[in-house]
This record gives sequence, structure tokens and C-alpha cells, in this order.
Amino acid sequence: MKSGEPVDLAQRVVELERIAQVTQVLNSTLDLNQLLDLIITTAADLIGTEGGSILLADRRTGELFFAAATGSGKEELKRIKVPVEGSIAGTVFKTCHPLIVQDVDSDPRHYDEVDQDIQFDTRSILAVPLIFKGRAIGVLEAVNKKNGGLFVEHEVSILSNLASQAAVAIENARLIGELREAYVRLEELDRVKSDFLAIASHELRTPLGVILGFAGFLREEADEWAREQFDVLLSAATQLRGLIDDMMNLTYLETGAIEIEPSEFSLQSLIGIVVEKLRPLAEAKRHKIRHNLSEAVVRVKADQEKIGIVLTNLISNAIKFTPPDGWIEIAVRPQTGMVAVSVSDTGYGIPPNKLERIFDRFYQVESHMTRHHEGMGLGLSIARGMIELHGGRIWAESVEGRGSRFTFTLPILWKDVVNQS
Ligand code: ADP
Repeated sequence: MKSGEPVDLAQRVVELERIAQVTQVLNSTLDLNQLLDLIITTAADLIGTEGGSILLADRRTGELFFAAATGSGKEELKRIKVPVEGSIAGTVFKTCHPLIVQDVDSDPRHYDEVDQDIQFDTRSILAVPLIFKGRAIGVLEAVNKKNGGLFVEHEVSILSNLASQAAVAIENARLIGELREAYVRLEELDRVKSDFLAIASHELRTPLGVILGFAGFLREEADEWAREQFDVLLSAATQLRGLIDDMMNLTYLETGAIEIEPSEFSLQSLIGIVVEKLRPLAEAKRHKIRHNLSEAVVRVKADQEKIGIVLTNLISNAIKFTPPDGWIEIAVRPQTGMVAVSVSDTGYGIPPNKLERIFDRFYQVESHMTRHHEGMGLGLSIARGMIELHGGRIWAESVEGRGSRFTFTLPILWKDVVNQS
């Protein structure tokens, strides 16, 4: 059949069916190299050529490079750049129009360095643009018509048809590839951040211990005036130790290097101790703290220090994020098999879409630039980690502008609830 002759309808249907079948496979193949190989073998098969190749445009430089071709090593190919000016692929890419070259040797646009590099002898080419969203992303070529035959017009539309499906599949696979790479980079960044936390907290702790020790010792020896100055120093250093402890706790939770050391204790007593410790902070903002600690003494078998940290984080947040003259209420509700402890406040509240995110490491509702409150955004993620270590749950509820309630549950492991008599 010569170029321009009418095409047998039955043959056309077979070709279209074949493209439809291939499209399904194309859309389910996410490995780019596998996909490109499939496209060129299908192209060669449909057009009846010895081989095929795909050139893609580098997104940054706009240069065309060989992404796949028959009969050569892939890595070698990727190093071969094809100039947009002065090549058959470049012409198709630039004009966005297909091109038939029946004899490449007589076409000055043929870029024959490729043949030399990959030891292939190109005689004839049918090239069509790969177009995605109206933009050329590369070129698909069917190379060397079998038995020395000529390309015919209707083969242009077959290959263009395949190319339009292939372009979508290629872009999808590229996007997924980029997503995967971004994910790997994120994981790497996350690891660097964790390493930094571990190293920094460890290295800061020792000199800070020396400062606290000496300041405490000197304070004892000092006169009244100097003692006040040492108190300021000690309070700042203690605050710093709290931040470093947070960093260390997070590191331990992340690496799993943390264990529960259970003992039996009364939850109400622990709450009392934490409230007394934080009372000066609450009084500085004229907050009232109300306990609603249930009739019964609830005894749990848990790690008292860790539950103390959780309560400290929740109550100090309630103080921090409630404007002056607010209310903070701590409630203990024993239920079957577990106890629920909640800390409620009449503070600023939290937007509904942030109620889960606030438990992420370093997450703070206020942006760093406009922040009014202190803190590193670690308290809640540490609290969640510690509660989950105990097999409990922690969550937040809130109405913006009205207040928030943080609740955690702990399994009651013992004959825990003892009625007060
Ligand atoms: P930090 O308090 O150091 O910022 P947290 O992890 O304890 O870190 O809390 C994360 C964020 O959750 C806080 O920055 C704040 O935006 C929000 N948040 C926590 N507790 C409350 C609360 N009681 N009321 C309003 N917002 C809160």
C-alpha cells in the first residue's frame, strides 16, 4: 500500500482495538522505564518497524534526551542529548507536527551521532510529538520500516493516537516518580531533624547541669541581693532544662528507647501535685483552677513521672492559651476498664481542622512570625506518645473563642477505684 491510499476499515478497527488494550496497560504501569519500553515496542509492532525510540524534554533545560530506544543500554542512552535545532526529533518537537523521513541519509536534519553512540543503523523514521495539555513533552519515533518498505499516511495517525495516550501515562509516571523522590527526601530530612534533636539535647544537657549545680551552690553562699539575682538565673536555667527535657523525651519516644516504669498511685494526688507546681503561673494570669476529681480515689498502675509530664503539658497549655481571668477545670471520670482525665479551659480555642495536627511534632496553630506564646510545639506530641505507650488515647475538642478540652484515657489495670469512706 502506498502513502495516501485508503485504509481497510477492518484493519483500522484492529489497530484501534490494539491501542485501546495498550492504553489500559499504559495507565496501570507506573515505572517510567518499563512504560517507555512498552510504548516503543507497541509503536514498532503497530507500524511494522524494526524498533522505536522516545525522546523527552528535560524540564529544566528544555533539551531533548533519549529516554528509551530499542537495542541499547538505558544508562548510556540517557547521556545522549539531541539538539532541538538540526535534528528530526527537534523539528517534530518544535513544530508539534509529525514527520516522515523515508531515507534519513538524504535528510540533512538527521542527527547521526546517536547511531554511532548506540551502534544502531537508522534508515527511516516516522516521528510524532508527545503532547500533554497542549505542550510538547517529547517525541515518539518508529524507526526502520521492515523489509525496506515506506511509511504511509495512515500510520501517522496510528502513531499519533498511541502518542497521545502515551503522553498522559508518561506524565503520570513522571509525577509519581517525583512524588516518590520527594517522599524519600522528606524522610531523609526527618531523619536529619531527629538526629539534630538527639545530638543537641544530649550536648546541651551536660553544661546546663553544671550551670544549675554551681548557681545553686553559689546562691547558698550569697548575700540577699545576690541571692535574688541567682534566683533569676536559676529560673531561666530551669526553663531551659524543661525545653531540653522535651527534646530528649521526643527523641526517646521516636526511637522507642523509652520504657514504662509502672507503680501504683492515686491519680487525684498526682493532679494535686501538678496543679500546685503550676499554680503560680495560673495566679499570674488570675486563672481559677477547679478540680472535679470524682468521689472515688482512682488508683492506676502507670508510670507516674510520664503521666505527670502529660498533666503538666496539658495544664500549662490551658494556662498559656487562656486569656487572663479564665477558668481551668480538671476532671477525672472512672469508666469500665479505664479512666478518662480531662483538662478544660475557657481559652482561645483551636480551629476544627487543627484539632489533630496540634499533636504533630513542632506544630503550633500560631505561625512563628506572629507568635505570642512560648514553646517549641512538642508538648502535645510528647503527651500523645506517653499516653499511647500506656495503651491509652488522647484527643482534643474545642470551640473557637470559647475554650478547649483535652482528654486522655488510661486503662485501669488494678482494683483501682476505691470508694472514699
Ligand atoms: P507548644 O505549647 O509548645 O506550642 P504543644 O505541642 O503543647 O506546643 O501545643 C501545640 C499547639 O496546640 C500550641 O502551639 C497551640 O497552638 C495549640 N494548643 C495546645 N493546647 C491548647 C489550648 N489549651 N488551647 C488552645 N490551643 C492549644
